[in-house]
Amino acid sequence: MFSKKTCKVRDLFIGGDNPVRVQTMYDSSILNADIDTIVSRIGKLSAMGCDLIRFSFSSLEDANPFSEIAKRSVMPVVADIHFDYRLAIKALECGADKIRINPGNIGAHWKTKEVVAAAKDLGRAIRIGLNSGSLPKNEKNLDKASLMVDTALEYLDDFESWGFDNTVVSLKASDVDVTLDAARRFASLSDYPLHLGVTEAGSAIVSSVRSSWALGNLLDEHIGDTIRVSITGDIEDEVIAANEILRTLGLKKGGVRLVSCPRCGRHTFDSRRMVEILEPRLMSLDKDITVAVMGCQVNGPGEAKDADYALTGIGRKAFLYAKGELIKEITIDNAEEALFEAIENG
Ligand code: SF4
Repeated sequence: MFSKKTCKVRDLFIGGDNPVRVQTMYDSSILNADIDTIVSRIGKLSAMGCDLIRFSFSSLEDANPFSEIAKRSVMPVVADIHFDYRLAIKALECGADKIRINPGNIGAHWKTKEVVAAAKDLGRAIRIGLNSGSLPKNEKNLDKASLMVDTALEYLDDFESWGFDNTVVSLKASDVDVTLDAARRFASLSDYPLHLGVTEAGSAIVSSVRSSWALGNLLDEHIGDTIRVSITGDIEDEVIAANEILRTLGLKKGGVRLVSCPRCGRHTFDSRRMVEILEPRLMSLDKDITVAVMGCQVNGPGEAKDADYALTGIGRKAFLYAKGELIKEITIDNAEEALFEAIENG
């Protein structure tokens, strides 16, 4: 059972029968940053299948750049707030479609109530974001997962008593078992949408494995309405990994499926570099196709014959195939353009 309730974030609905949403978090400070660059990067992330993006809102100085980004972003923007309730209210006034807070870090009850009132007045959303490392005193001696769930349920009750329910919950831990336990328990007790993620998950490879295991199991049990694959690395990789999990589970259709051989002693074509170049661009295409990149001309064409397009080569010479038929002999330097031209004209 995916959540029964939904949460509206700008014009995007999370939960209920809606698709599982993909999120990432901007990896740099927005203070003194070039807003055009950020807005253009958001556009590319959106094309790659990202639905929401979160920014740290760490001081009042973030207000101006955040407002500008919120105004120009093609996707809903989320402000991440720690400790200061005034920053949460400011972020909402600056156009945050959603804020992420941990009420336990905001302090006195009345401060959270003011934040919730501001979100309610402005028609915005709140994510109650709990991490296993920042929980209230464990008076009942509960295990970590239970403590996270009970705490989230208490906060949700508070929010409801203040007339607010446009809420999503996240219960994150770097320990995969705690993540699984908390999500399963929460989903059995609450109708609210749940955001899934394994926090502090590590490098691209390590995080992708841990996140695939944890998120894949939960989504397969119909638990989770939005996901982030946290990676110590490029946020574009987070989006690629999250979408790949959804496609693998059959929860997302379409998009480009990039396949490439592992390479062996026969490879002379630099397929590894070619994949690095092609992947971000291919993932931004709104096409339902398979593209193969193979390391040699011996077995490559045969192994890639089921792909819609395939690139393979010998040294600096490259060969472009469409549906198993050779359509062009090129060089490694113009292989990228030749492939995209073929796809566009395809
Ligand atoms: S396509 Fe060629 S290089 Fe790649 S694994 Fe097969 S034989 Fe090896």
